[in-house]
Amino acid sequence: MRILVTGGAGFIGSHLIDRLMAENHDVVCLDNFYTGRKHNLLKWINHPFFELIRHDITEPIRLEVDQIYHLACPASPVHYQYNPVKTVKTNVMGTLYMLGLAKRVKARFLLASTSEVYGDPNVHPQPETYWGNVNPIGIRSCYDEGKRVAETLTFDYHRQNQVDVRVARIFNTYGPRMLVQDGRVISNFVAQALQGEPLTVYGTGKQTRSFCYVSDLVDGLIQLMNGEQTGPINLGNPEEYTVLELAQQIQNLINPDVPIEFQPLPMDDPQRRCPDIDKAKMYLNWHPTVPLSEGLQRTIQDFSTRLSNPADPAYIEV
Ligand code: NAD
Ligand code: UDP
Repeated sequence: MRILVTGGAGFIGSHLIDRLMAENHDVVCLDNFYTGRKHNLLKWINHPFFELIRHDITEPIRLEVDQIYHLACPASPVHYQYNPVKTVKTNVMGTLYMLGLAKRVKARFLLASTSEVYGDPNVHPQPETYWGNVNPIGIRSCYDEGKRVAETLTFDYHRQNQVDVRVARIFNTYGPRMLVQDGRVISNFVAQALQGEPLTVYGTGKQTRSFCYVSDLVDGLIQLMNGEQTGPINLGNPEEYTVLELAQQIQNLINPDVPIEFQPLPMDDPQRRCPDIDKAKMYLNWHPTVPLSEGLQRTIQDFSTRLSNPADPAYIEV
């Protein structure tokens, strides 16, 4: 199959491409390298079944493919808030063009949506039937509302134009290749502890998140794409931790002497987040298998290698 991955030079996209290439597919990657890096795809660059196209999905493009994994969009609050109007354009115009492409070539289309569509949830854990509690005008809205419109577009193309669609609602995912200065919590704490800096806990640290290791997530995306359910389907690890517990776990794994420093909680930061994954279990026979301690070890190993080789292109930040 010829498979398009938008945002394929990024964290999740590059792990997905590794898997698709290993399965002998013909893979086309579109990326504008905002938060993605060629280095993540270096091993495929001269492969005859791999194409890397520098392209911004806010512009249309004509390609012939069988499946589209639509991941292009910055995922870290630091990156998506840097240029919020661009984030909205990426989610709205970008998704519109990719759905248009899927319609024209009759490709199956998978949207990488997010647990952020649930906002600061009043229902816990969050099932797919929950409609969410999202501030439409806050600093996270460019991403949350952008993804909500992307879901709307996806289902409207499905109903109106019979595009074959899949929607994954991805919960916090982590692993090797996250940018050192990504700004998300696991990459921040790991990089800080390795460099002997204080771990920056925002707010009281009592807010919760559930962390899914990237290989589990990639399994879920591929199973959703090739299964019969349109979704939306939650993909995430239902083990819930407070941010403070996470900081302590990373402290213990790397350096118990680094202090924890409390900093102000950003606006609209969700208080609790945990996926209800009954649907993924039932329809995809999927559940996460990598425990947090093991996933953290692998992530620490990767960060430690990159931080100790500042000349290595893998270290270079966008
Ligand atoms: P990432 O920032 O590492 O990857 C995003 C990729 O998209 C990058 O390679 C970036 O350069 C590219 N991109 C951004 N805007 C683009 C544009 N306009 N045109 C072309 N390329 C563009 O993030 P990630 O963690 O790999 O996330 C991938 C997808 O999964 C995103 O859609 C994100 O919303 C979704 N998601 C991720 C998480 C998570 O915890 N990682 C959680 C929920 C949803
Ligand atoms: N967070 C933190 N310190 C950091 C980065 C993030 O305490 O250095 C907190 C953040 O306020 C949030 C949680 O960790 O409550 C997860 O943040 P992240 O940006 O990783 O993901 P999201 O908020 O989008 O789930």
